Amino acid sequence: MATSKVLAGARVVLPTGTVSGGRVIVDGTRIAGSAPADAETLDLTGHWLVPGFVDMHNHGGGGASFTNGTVEDILHGVHTHRLHGTTTLVASTVTGDMDALAQRAGLLSELAEQGEIAGVHFEGPFISPCRKGAHSESLLRHPDPAEVRKLIDAARGQAKMVTLAAELPGGIDSVRLLAEHGVIAAIGHTDATYEQTVAAVDAGATVATHLYNAMPGLGHRAPGPIAALLEDERVTVELIDDGTHLHPAAFQLAFHRAGADRVALITDAMDAAGFGDGTYHLGPLEVVVSEGVARLAEGGAIAGSTLTQDRAFQRAVTVDGLPVEDVVTAISATPAKILGVYDRVGSLEPGKDADLVVLDADFALKGVLRKGEWVVDPK
Ligand SMILES: [Zn+2]
Repeated sequence: MATSKVLAGARVVLPTGTVSGGRVIVDGTRIAGSAPADAETLDLTGHWLVPGFVDMHNHGGGGASFTNGTVEDILHGVHTHRLHGTTTLVASTVTGDMDALAQRAGLLSELAEQGEIAGVHFEGPFISPCRKGAHSESLLRHPDPAEVRKLIDAARGQAKMVTLAAELPGGIDSVRLLAEHGVIAAIGHTDATYEQTVAAVDAGATVATHLYNAMPGLGHRAPGPIAALLEDERVTVELIDDGTHLHPAAFQLAFHRAGADRVALITDAMDAAGFGDGTYHLGPLEVVVSEGVARLAEGGAIAGSTLTQDRAFQRAVTVDGLPVEDVVTAISATPAKILGVYDRVGSLEPGKDADLVVLDADFALKGVLRKGEWVVDPK
């Protein structure tokens, strides 16, 4: 049961900066402003205390897929990511046939209503065959607004984001429809030019789905979607910082151009995250995971990641050399804001859910608290 506790002695990363020897008070499921008399104190001297991580793009973990798994599988996948610090997670689907996706949306929306996940992200089928990555080409379709509407309706208010290639017929109208319904239109798996991408952002697109991956590269005469998405203050860019999807220099370029307020550190994780090497499926396609890198069995395209957000955090600080506060912003606050849940999660402030992560001096995960209960007990 959630009890009152005072977490004392750690370096606490607050929205206003880092406090050494700070205290975070947890009363039941929430962060509180003052400690009840019966609160137990936990000494976390030598540790960091940061907000729980928010993953807005995640296909599964622990051997389970959010696209194909049973309810039990999905909950297991969600729990696997909680063990790695992700206390808020949007479940992403991959391309499937429309009826199957609508059915999946119904099932995922129930889990969202129960508070297990923070909503649904449809990645495909409205994406470009030229940039299909690990999506089945035969199931891809143009972004017809009526069909986009069908999917978001099937999610009963829990659709958070749709990734689409806005240069395809119906693309701009679909972006407008999503924006009107309060669903994030995310540009990704796209073959758009710079100009076409600018038009999509002007129509209401606000997220870049894993910037750089599954889109034309940054050219000096044809800057493509990357430049258009990076330069526009209205756009939040997702980055997969696993050392495989992006060259460290490309990561740095994007992070510093957009700034932590416009970067969301995502996993794009598939089943093998938190599980191990082997053979898996991403939708109908076979994926082989070797040394933690997931590739399609046929063709060898990168097929999602096996990243967890604790590793992304540690890498961003210790390998990329980013300030801890910027990493906290990009892994918690920024995704929470774009998802519209920053009033409840994404920072350590009184009144918010008691979701937090304890890290040691080397930024290795030592504890995870979700809604006031230890998922990983630091003791
Ligand atoms: Zn994905």
